[in-house]
Amino acid sequence: MNQPINPINPTTGLDFTPAVGDMPFTPLQRELLAKAHALGRDKFAARAPQWDREASFPFANYDDLRDAGFLKLCVPTAHGGLGADYTTYMMVAAEVGRFCGATALTWNMHICSTMWTGVLADGIAMTEEQRAEHLARRELHFSRIVNDGAIYAQPFSEGTAAAAGRAPFGTTAKKVDGGWLINGRKIWASLSGAADYYGILCTEDKGDDHPDARDTLYISVPATSEGFSISGDWDPLGMRGTVSRNLAFKDVFVSDAEQLMPRGIYFKGAQTWPAMFFTLSPTYLGLANAAYDFTVKYLRGEVEGEPPIKRRQFPTKQITVAQMRIQLENMKSIFARAIAEAKPNPSKDEKLRLYAAHYSVMEGANDIARLAIRTCGGQSMMKHLPLERLYRDSRCGALMLPWTAELILDRMGRETLYEAGEKDA
Ligand SMILES: Cc1cc2nc3c(=O)[nH]c(=O)nc-3n(C[C@H](O)[C@H](O)[C@H](O)COP(=O)(O)OP(=O)(O)OC[C@H]3O[C@@H](n4cnc5c(N)ncnc54)[C@H](O)[C@@H]3O)c2cc1C
Repeated sequence: MNQPINPINPTTGLDFTPAVGDMPFTPLQRELLAKAHALGRDKFAARAPQWDREASFPFANYDDLRDAGFLKLCVPTAHGGLGADYTTYMMVAAEVGRFCGATALTWNMHICSTMWTGVLADGIAMTEEQRAEHLARRELHFSRIVNDGAIYAQPFSEGTAAAAGRAPFGTTAKKVDGGWLINGRKIWASLSGAADYYGILCTEDKGDDHPDARDTLYISVPATSEGFSISGDWDPLGMRGTVSRNLAFKDVFVSDAEQLMPRGIYFKGAQTWPAMFFTLSPTYLGLANAAYDFTVKYLRGEVEGEPPIKRRQFPTKQITVAQMRIQLENMKSIFARAIAEAKPNPSKDEKLRLYAAHYSVMEGANDIARLAIRTCGGQSMMKHLPLERLYRDSRCGALMLPWTAELILDRMGRETLYEAGEKDA
């Protein structure tokens, strides 16, 4: 497809404005953003209606992601990956989300399995023994992705307080000779049926009646395991291409090599690296950009295949576009700051800002989509146009645990008014 040639922006070095905003990028960031933009624009955007209509998994997009090296984006270069760090991934993910929300969100689940075990794990305190165990085990898992193009899912939700971080997981792993015996169930597992491995969170069953969140294990279950099954209908409001169904584990044996983190390290990691949960947000920043981009084109009468009717002359529509832009600029700014300062053990201000960024993006994306439909008008929400899908997809972000919009408000209020360990008499 012939694309109009835009001038290169001297700040970004790119001929488009990335979803994350216009700022100086490193050479790797620039290269990956350009690749993501081209993939999204030329391939993912046109396919998005199909996954949404059929509620089917975007396999074709995954073939393209694999070919572009994007499945190994966050695998360290020493292991054959592209070596993208946290900040770089977050920028690239927003660009993918701009063109297909379901692809970006499921890709996030896969990427987290490499980022949690890769750059994030490098920032978690471990004993020498734990570090050696981890470095040895993650080689297998990275090599599956680098050499075989394997896809990982990340099921932790169970419909209980566990995924909210307020109770131990009900799914258990019991130590047996040479490995673990897993029992339990998961709900809302994106990539159901598409993943080769399911990186689950579960509680070590130590044989007593006191399950403890500190005993959370992060273990990968191969899709071919005996006793593993997928069930449940799949016909949701939005993010339909994620195919997030239920998983059951009945005496599933996995070998020790499947452990993605040493015992006790996941719990420490979640406390050390709160930004690990912020990775769900770039998808929605991408969707917000898409709703805004569409609105500008539509009001200018420039949407391909639509009559060239201009609606930009009405002051009320100009005002709404201005409101959308203000909200988008706010979202981009706080997002950019949060990804730049993401690190182990952030300060109180950095942590509160991270929550604020997550909330702003998750609630803001749907707000921008709502304004887009209101101002573009009735004809803009027909199914052949992307806006109604963006509206539905963008509704989902604020529901995602552990940082739903409600839980963010809860955490922010509490953590602002109480210092760690402080209680009222
Ligand atoms: C598009 C999409 C894709 C998803 N993909 C995945 C995935 O790949 N893997 C995965 O693990 N999950 C995934 N999820 C699930 C998601 O993270 C949530 O776990 C899920 O939406 C929770 O649904 P629920 O009806 O059980 O929520 P809720 O009932 O809201 O929450 C479940 C439980 O959490 C606790 N809780 C919730 N809110 C509060 C609160 N305000 N205060 C105190 N406790 C609270 C309660 O115990 C409650 O019963 C996905 C969700 C969506 C929308």
